[in-house]
Parts: sequence; structure tokens; C-alpha cells
Amino acid sequence: MGKPTGFLEFTREAPPKAKVQERLQHYREFVSQYPENKLNEQSARCMNCGIPFCHSGCPLGNVIPEFNDAVYNKNYEEAYHILASTNNFPEFTGRICPAPCESACVLGINQPPVSIEEIEKHIIEIAFEKGFVKAKKPNVRTGKKIAVIGSGPAGLAAAAQLNYAGHTVHVYERDDAAGGLLRYGIPDFKLDKWVIDRRIALLEEEGITFHYLANVGVNISINDLLREHQAIVLAGGSTAPRNLFIPGRELDGVHFAMDFLKQNNKRVAGKDVLANAHIESNILPHEVTATGKHVVVIGGGDTGSDCVGTSNRHGAASVTQFELMPKPPADRTDFMPWPTYPMLLKTTTSHEEGAIREWAIATKEFIGDENGKLKGLKIVNLQWTASKDGRPAQFTEIPGTEREIPCDLALLAMGFVHPQHVGFIDELGVELDARGNVKAGEKEFKSNIAKVFTAGDMRRGQSLVVWAISEGRECARKVDEFLMGSSILETKEASI
Ligand code: FAD
Repeated sequence: MGKPTGFLEFTREAPPKAKVQERLQHYREFVSQYPENKLNEQSARCMNCGIPFCHSGCPLGNVIPEFNDAVYNKNYEEAYHILASTNNFPEFTGRICPAPCESACVLGINQPPVSIEEIEKHIIEIAFEKGFVKAKKPNVRTGKKIAVIGSGPAGLAAAAQLNYAGHTVHVYERDDAAGGLLRYGIPDFKLDKWVIDRRIALLEEEGITFHYLANVGVNISINDLLREHQAIVLAGGSTAPRNLFIPGRELDGVHFAMDFLKQNNKRVAGKDVLANAHIESNILPHEVTATGKHVVVIGGGDTGSDCVGTSNRHGAASVTQFELMPKPPADRTDFMPWPTYPMLLKTTTSHEEGAIREWAIATKEFIGDENGKLKGLKIVNLQWTASKDGRPAQFTEIPGTEREIPCDLALLAMGFVHPQHVGFIDELGVELDARGNVKAGEKEFKSNIAKVFTAGDMRRGQSLVVWAISEGRECARKVDEFLMGSSILETKEASI
């Protein structure tokens, strides 16, 4: 590496964040950049460890020691080309990836790992600033036409790769703009939307055509698309939210997290929050806000945390987040094995901004007033017991802990069960797996219907942006092989 003793000299440092009171006044990103000397120092912590596990920890197979070395040597153009060779959208992963590469970093065994995610973000931002990022146009067109359904990270990655291979790519998106959950799930304070716009402009320049408010299976027929294209990639995400079937679920004030988050992202973008409800997903006929309310977020993951940050920015009277699982002491891995317990212990920037977090809590009932409006929750504390025979842990209610708490907005953030089946999945009659996702092997990405492939959350179930990009790339190679007999497209799988 550029500086073999770097890991002995420099400690891990994060770039400065705006103070909580300041950042709660807006929805923009609030993490600043490292000054150049700090960026070089952070990359110098990469320690030439012989067998770098960060490569394999990253679903994209990012070539991390090499780009760290280039950053240390201030060769940012080279760093950009190394990074872009495996990752189509480092500006997304550099902001919001939980960085499995850092969990795999060898330095992390006895020191904080290298700040790989931050370094990645710096490389791509420097590359855009200095003009290294250019539209990647194909040399020749193959004359084959491909439809990609869904413009989340999986659809965008598949589209980018297939276009680069020379195919004519049309992306069909039911929302009014591209990005999937990057656009209308993840709040702006984690990912400013100009970052997506900048990438979409580049993809358009490369030759990809986007069709918006195109809800396949609703106002566009999948069978028409099948007739008009030589291959189809289904990348519609995992959009059916897990529900909580308890008394009072129908009350005014109980909503899925995505109803709330999507509306807010539209509001921040200056759009009509209620427009296009008949075409887009997750748009209620009325606005949902947290201002002045006692908000309870049910679910302890990323979606829940995004509801916390958004509610605080709305000016909620209080924000509480419940998790069904217990708060694990680091040594209790018997009923909550890796990687679940560190995920639940994770403190996000939204938690830093203020929220009461409670673990091992079950919600038993939504309580309403005489007008059908939510006014409280009936909750109970849980006792978890590890199983001795390898079966999942069990919980029981702790007697005497049942109580009512005030709540006028409950946000259900308990994950997603599978893709929405009504629409093109039903129309196509594509085979589903046992969990209700579109069935396709993780090496082939091919459904049971001729020339129909699938990638991202629609295939693997709810997951991460980095996995969606990886699946989009791997799937694109399989589509290219199907159409051309072989493929020039590089992927992690193809490099093994
Ligand atoms: P999606 O991003 O869901 O995109 C699917 C697209 O398909 C959507 O645009 C949808 O409108 C479109 N579509 C669906 N059906 C149709 C149709 N019939 N016709 C046309 N278009 C259609 N991951 C992280 O790594 N880090 C995070 O911090 C993080 N935070 C998250 C926060 C929230 C609130 C949520 C919900 C998820 C978060 N995730 C995070 C997960 C991550 O966003 C997803 O794993 C990822 O976006 C999946 O990508 P995808 O392309 O498969 O699907």
C-alpha cells in the first residue's frame, strides 16, 4: 500500500456532521467532506493485508485496496476507474450502504476498520467534480431491444450494463421519476435527490429511454412488452409491506411507513403529494404528517429509523421506536446470531437526533377515539427465551407490564414480505418462490417464462442497495449471454 505504516499512524475519523439542531431545520444531507489530507490519511489505513477480505465482503467485489492506494497517491482518476469497474453507482453506496466491506476489513479485527464507504463517496464526488465521469456509450448497437421494469438500483444497474453491451434499453417506471426506493423511500437527508438526477441524466445521455407513470400490468400490458422486446428484466422491488393485524388497525392515524416516507420525499421535491395516486404506488388520498403528534414507529430497522428522522423534522411532539427483539448485550448471540444483533444495536444519525428506543415490546391494540382517530397503543413487554434445539427463540408476555401509551400517528415499519402480485406478476403468471418473490436462481436470474429475467428485491426479497446493484449487473450479463451467446460485461461472479 501507499503508506505501509498508515494503519499504525492514523485512527479512523469520520467527516464532520452538522449539529442536530441545525440539520433538523432541513431535509438535505448534512455530512461534509474530508479535507484532502484527511482523505489521504484515511486511505493510508488500508494495510496491505495479504488476503484482503473486503473484496469478498462487498457484493459487488469492489477492488478496495487498489482504490485506497490510488487515493493515498492522489491519483483520483485511477481510483475512479477502479471503483467504476465494479460499481455503476458509487454515489449511492458511498452514502447509504451499511458497508459489509468494512465488516470484512482485516484491520477491523483489532482496530476500527478502514472508512471504505466514505472513501468511495469521495472518489465519485471528486470524479464528477473533475469531469472524469463520462457517458459510457456502446461502440456498436446490436439491434436487440430490452424492457426493464422498475428503475430502482437493480433496474438501473441492469439497464446501464445492457445499454453498454449495445442493446436498446427501455426502462418502465410507475412513479413519476426514476430511482425506486432511492427516490421515494430513503429520505433526502440520507441521499439528496440531485444525486439521482445527475446519474439519470448520464444514463439518458448513454442512450437509455425512461418511460414514467408507466405501471406495467395496469396502464401498460406486460404481454405487449413481451411481444415488442427480445428480453425483459423484472426489477419491481419488494413492495408489499408486512401488516400488523391487531384490533384498531383500521383507525385514522395508523399507516405503513412507506405511505409517510413517499409523501415526504415528494413534498421535499416540491411535488404535489397526492398527484398520480391512480398510477403510482403508496399514495394515500390524504396527507400524513407528524407535526405536533406523538409518533410511534413500529419496527427497528432502516425504514423505521428513516421515519424517526422524518418525524423529528416534521416537529413531532414525541418520537418512540419499538423493536420486537430484545436489546442484545454484545455477548448474547445465542438467540440473536450475527448479523442480526449488531444491526439492532446500530445507532443511526436519526437516532442521534432524538427518539425513545424500546426493545422487546409488542403492540397489542390500536386504541381510537369516538371519531375513529388513533389516540393510543396498548403495549406489553416481552421475555425472550433461547431455544436449546436450534429452533427460533420464543417470546412470552411479561405479566403486569401491559399498558396504554398516547399515540396519534403509528407508522408500521416491519419490512416487506414480497413484491406486489396484482399487476404484471399475475398477468404474466410467472412462478414465485416459497416467500412469494419471483423465482429465479441466483446465478441465472432467469424466470420460468421464456426471455423473462429478474433481479434485485423482486427476486431476493427485501435487501440492500448494494445487493440490488450487484443483482442488476449479474442479471444483465445473463441477458446478454442469452441474446448474444457470450458477454463482454464484467461482474463479480464472472471474475471468480
Ligand atoms: P426498488 O428500489 O424497490 O425499485 C423498484 C422500482 O420498480 C420502483 O421504482 C417501483 O415503482 C417500480 N415498479 C414496481 N412495480 C412496477 C410496475 N408494475 N411497473 C413499473 N414500475 C414498477 N438499503 C441500503 O442499502 N441502505 C439504506 O440505508 C436503506 N434504507 C432503506 C430505507 C427504506 C425506507 C427502505 C424501504 C429501504 C431501504 N433500503 C436501504 C433497501 C433498499 O432501498 C432496497 O433494497 C433497494 O432499493 C432495492 O432495489 P430494487 O431496484 O430491487 O427495488
